[in-house]
Amino acid sequence: MSSSTSPAPAPSRRTRLGILGGGQLARMLALAAHPLGVDCVVVEPAPDPPAGPVAQVIPAAYDDPAALAVLATCDVVTVELEGVPPAALAWLAERVPVRPNPDAITTSADRWLEKRLLRRLGIATAPFDDEVTGAPAIVKSRRGGFDGRGNRLARTDDALAAARAELPDPIVEGIVRFERELSIVAARGVDGETRCWPLVENQHEHGILRRTLAPAPFGDDTARRALGEQAVDLAHRVLEALDYVGVLAIELFEHDGRLVANELAPRVHNSGHWSMDGAVTGQFEQHVRAVCGLPLGDPSALGVTAMLNAVGGLPDRSTVLAVPGTHLHVYGKSARPGRKLGHVNITAPDDAELAHRLAALTDAVPFVV
Ligand code: AMP
Repeated sequence: MSSSTSPAPAPSRRTRLGILGGGQLARMLALAAHPLGVDCVVVEPAPDPPAGPVAQVIPAAYDDPAALAVLATCDVVTVELEGVPPAALAWLAERVPVRPNPDAITTSADRWLEKRLLRRLGIATAPFDDEVTGAPAIVKSRRGGFDGRGNRLARTDDALAAARAELPDPIVEGIVRFERELSIVAARGVDGETRCWPLVENQHEHGILRRTLAPAPFGDDTARRALGEQAVDLAHRVLEALDYVGVLAIELFEHDGRLVANELAPRVHNSGHWSMDGAVTGQFEQHVRAVCGLPLGDPSALGVTAMLNAVGGLPDRSTVLAVPGTHLHVYGKSARPGRKLGHVNITAPDDAELAHRLAALTDAVPFVV
């Protein structure tokens, strides 16, 4: 007997997302991807990568032909780090959608190219190249530095000359006398729609991010609006110029009521980790949505959140979880000074309660460099 009701629509088949890099960012992408029906395949040369327990791992170099051939069978490919060989990205892009696109990744991986782009877009940066006539200055490697590694502060002209000679492919920057460091994390979908999380404040120790406050605290609403609008405007310009798809972070200095752009990261970013628990949609889910061509989620903050990085050691689980509003994220890495091993997100309904919860936690979360 035939039924008059039409058959239920077939559920969408699972999507395969390839990721170059298998570190904690890939792990958190895979954890966010799974409930959306997206399975991750990562290429990672290091043994026991953090993404291992939650993704299919291909243990190989990022430009290994056999590994790339597997990634080419995925529905879409993305990166968790910018320092991937451009030739590997180009090869993949001929066979599978690579999001963000290879040009966006290689531009953002190079401090000189990204500064040129920012300037072309009318976005303020530190003085660089010929604009810097002498010390004090900061010498950075164009590619490959992270957590302050590959940077040298030169206080004298002699130190500047030495740093220039020693660092590979150096770029010289003038010192920005900033009041604090901020960042904006933004996402753009395949249809060009853009969504930004609120501006956040980042506090570093020894060049490593210790704490993010989200949204960034401001003395008054006028300042919040003014800087917030500047940040959203510059994020839009960067995303459009790069024809970007996915999540991108822009590290910023606040100086005299203005934003100065320091660095682009063409990926999910440590200063966006708070959003996993403190926003309607977190950065990892948003990146998966964007690169898979799904509608973007709402990046609004749910209250106030602090993110504390656990560096060189992990906190006692029970101590952390006894504080209301806390969420612990452990990356499954072996301990080493200066290594990010996990983070704690502390959410609260208001600033006073957040300060109270943070006071109970800060000493409990190791920061060993
Ligand atoms: P980066 O590797 O560019 O993220 O730099 C690491 C840290 O060095 C930043 O978080 C800042 O605290 C500081 N820094 C980098 N560039 C500059 C600059 N041009 N002026 C002042 N401080 C800087």
